Amino acid sequence: MWLKRDLRLQDHLALHHALQEDLPVLLLYIFEPSLLKDKHYSERHWNFVKESLQHLQEQLNTHTTEILVVEDEVVFVFKTLIAHIKIHTLFSHQETGLRITYDRDIALEKFAITLKKEQPDKKFGWVEFCTNGVQRGLRNRKGWSNDWEWFMNQPQLPFQPKKGQFVDLQFLSELKKYFIVPSLETPVQSSFQPGGTHNGLRYLDSFLRGRYREYNAHISKPTLARKSCSRLSPYIAWGNLSVRQVWQQAKAFREIASHKRAIDGFISRLRWQAHFIQKFEMEDTMQFVSVNKGYHTLKKTRNVAHQKAWREGKTGYPLVDACMRCLVETGYLNFRMRAMTLSFFTHNLWQSWQDASPHLAQQFLDFEPGIHYPQIQMQAGETGINMLRIYNPVKNSLEHDPEGAFIKKWIPELRDVPVAYIHEPYKMSLMEQQFCNTFIGKDYPLPIVDIKKTGKQAGDILWNLKENNLVKKESYRILKRHTLADRNTFD
Ligand SMILES: Cc1cc2nc3c(=O)[nH]c(=O)nc-3n(C[C@H](O)[C@H](O)[C@H](O)COP(=O)(O)OP(=O)(O)OC[C@H]3O[C@@H](n4cnc5c(N)ncnc54)[C@H](O)[C@@H]3O)c2cc1C
Repeated sequence: MWLKRDLRLQDHLALHHALQEDLPVLLLYIFEPSLLKDKHYSERHWNFVKESLQHLQEQLNTHTTEILVVEDEVVFVFKTLIAHIKIHTLFSHQETGLRITYDRDIALEKFAITLKKEQPDKKFGWVEFCTNGVQRGLRNRKGWSNDWEWFMNQPQLPFQPKKGQFVDLQFLSELKKYFIVPSLETPVQSSFQPGGTHNGLRYLDSFLRGRYREYNAHISKPTLARKSCSRLSPYIAWGNLSVRQVWQQAKAFREIASHKRAIDGFISRLRWQAHFIQKFEMEDTMQFVSVNKGYHTLKKTRNVAHQKAWREGKTGYPLVDACMRCLVETGYLNFRMRAMTLSFFTHNLWQSWQDASPHLAQQFLDFEPGIHYPQIQMQAGETGINMLRIYNPVKNSLEHDPEGAFIKKWIPELRDVPVAYIHEPYKMSLMEQQFCNTFIGKDYPLPIVDIKKTGKQAGDILWNLKENNLVKKESYRILKRHTLADRNTFD
């Protein structure tokens, strides 16, 4: 049983099937050097995985087994494994991932085929199972919503191994001798959400016990959303929890919930999770180019200084800067702030979304390729089917952080600026700057662009492009493939 982004024991389709066989089950996790150094990932992700694995190892204690955790490229790991054990079947979930994991899966499949021809006694079959209702091989979305709902309504799969079903610890320690076995230690102090199913359940519990009540009211507020949104995204992205577990618990809770509209808002987001990943599953070129080919001609010149200022939270727009610094520190931003920072990058700084995506992926603890890329393209205004949104960071700041509490928390150099100027400190006169001992252009940067001018320029170009024949033709194709055939439509 090859574990990837499905780091749990309960409601695990592939593991459940592996345990139906009358053969010993070996649990395997592979830290792949090519993924460890991929530009989408950073240490925070691997620490989350390690914490999840530590917890799984504890749970497996009672079954006198543990996960074989190794570090090497996947094909090499299987080459080494078959030299020492006979694999009957390899079980895993279907991964809707980056091109690098898709290519790795193809390489493994090729290896298994060659093995069958060249060393038939060593051959093994590989079966992959559906993840959270996302389907492989679809041509359109006909009936997709019904299928998803059917999947979510199926009973959860309990983890009930029979006695002695796993390979034992002594055998595993023998096997370990042939591999690089990485340490699962993680920093004691961390500002990120901790990995592990137990932690995911804790977040779910506290959400349903009360945090959910202000879900709709606070969802766009950079500070309040951190408490009133579920914060389940890393646990879902790394598979500590299945969406079905969360969905069923939320549905059951809805019956007795005092704030039904709030819980409905949350439940509908769980469907979006699979909707976006399904898009990526069906059109994985979205990692590299705009899904709408009409936007491939869009010309943007790379501005290294602007990109650096955006990454470091030094653009001169306090809400943008607070978001970027908070993200680096904590690995989380609520939806609207993610959308706004991306809009600022692609519209106001007029930089291509491809330059933003790896940095954001590295910072989001919940990085999920299938949500990340479709969302980025949507917010960049390059799908042709979505409403073009150019977020005004000052307006958002006034509406969603009126007292500037979020800004002051993440930009200490603006701590003494009066609330009247916190959203636009560059409007302070020199005397006002002296009063609060904060000098704009020295302590905190002047705006690197004019948002009114750049927002209008971006809007003019993108609205004009919407009328382009190729954009229209492609929009129709995208709607037909990804939404129209379904009874529900999504953005
Ligand atoms: C540019 C951009 C990039 C994003 N990248 C990611 C990413 O890499 N990984 C990720 O999980 N989310 C991503 N999102 C979507 C969204 O911002 C997060 O899922 C959400 O903020 C996570 O917080 P939460 O768990 O408290 O969400 P809640 O609001 O409590 O929602 C519960 C769950 O529903 C799903 N969900 C919520 N909102 C969305 C959405 N808009 N689209 C799809 N699924 C959703 C998530 O699994 C989430 O955990 C991105 C959004 C934008 C604008």
